[in-house]
Amino acid sequence: MTHEEIKESLSDYFDGQLGPAGTVEISAHVATCPECRAELDALSALSAGIKESLPAPAPAAMKERLLARARQENKPLFRSATVLAVAFAALILVLMAGVAAKKYMPTLFSSVQGMINGAASTLGVSGGNK
Ligand SMILES: [Zn+2]
Repeated sequence: MTHEEIKESLSDYFDGQLGPAGTVEISAHVATCPECRAELDALSALSAGIKESLPAPAPAAMKERLLARARQENKPLFRSATVLAVAFAALILVLMAGVAAKKYMPTLFSSVQGMINGAASTLGVSGGNK
């Protein structure tokens, strides 16, 4: 390999992706070539910097477990979240209706009665008259 070829292969060499022959050849070249040596040191420093800047507690096993769980429980999780949201909204509505009923009982009652009458008359018009 020429100096240029080796320079191109340095990141693969650093990642251990070269075969034994390539690894030996590059090791030998780097030992004698200051430019490739510097390039390799830069790669090493960059890699160390990346490792340091990453938060330590993010093991691949945990990520894999979370991904597996998301895959397994994707639909049930979504469904239970939706059910929860709907139940929560219903609870809020019930609470609001309860508060409103206590506060404005006569008004609410008459407006509900009006709604029922309206619905009844709608039903009567559409389905009752045969
Ligand atoms: Zn070189």
